[in-house]
Amino acid sequence: MKFEDEPKYAARRRMMVEQLRANPLAFPANVLEAISRVPRHLFCQKMYLSSAYDDVTLPIAAQQTISQPSTVARQMSLLDLHPGERVLEIGTGSGYQTACLEAFGVNVYTIERQKELFHITSNLLKGLESKAIYICGDGYNGMPQYAPFDKIIVTAGAFSFPPKLMAQLKVGGLMIIPIEDKSGTSHLYRVRRIDESNFNVDKLEECKFVPMLSGVN
Ligand code: SAH
Repeated sequence: MKFEDEPKYAARRRMMVEQLRANPLAFPANVLEAISRVPRHLFCQKMYLSSAYDDVTLPIAAQQTISQPSTVARQMSLLDLHPGERVLEIGTGSGYQTACLEAFGVNVYTIERQKELFHITSNLLKGLESKAIYICGDGYNGMPQYAPFDKIIVTAGAFSFPPKLMAQLKVGGLMIIPIEDKSGTSHLYRVRRIDESNFNVDKLEECKFVPMLSGVN
């Protein structure tokens, strides 16, 4: 991807990355390096530019949000990424997470269900010469035409493990997904595909995401 940066924002971004480096979750250096190369302000709405490098979620089109930098770092850390892997992202949103994954050197396939958001973000990614494959569709279906994936990252909160996504994971592959339980609390889960029919599931920390909804809107 090609980014036009501005010194003012580059300085703020360095501060954001220093803050992430001090996070007790101990994000790996290669994840922070990828994040340090993506100008988050390009993915924010104009009225929120002054907060682009704060560790917060911010509103984007279609009542959605751009993920918090520490959440992006956490999900990327848990994925145990290696350059060249095929990574499926559910919930393109602003395209920020997509750009961070691409900066890491993985091949990104990303799906967004909100047409309005997809229209804005696909134009942005195109303008930035992104090599990601982006489609408007229902992430519950995954992208069977590009499966299997080494890694799957879900950036919206599901209510159970989506069977079609599990089926599109390579043996040995990982999926990071937020799941909301009956009490309305969400946790991050890490799913590893052990073999054709077995998965190992780890329940991790509590988290907050916009809901993963079915169908295209
Ligand atoms: N990774 C994004 C996060 C956006 S918020 C970013 O960094 O900006 C999560 C996104 O998931 C929203 O845009 C929402 O519309 C989308 N989403 C929710 N359910 C989905 C589904 N079933 N398929 C695809 N996208 C979905």
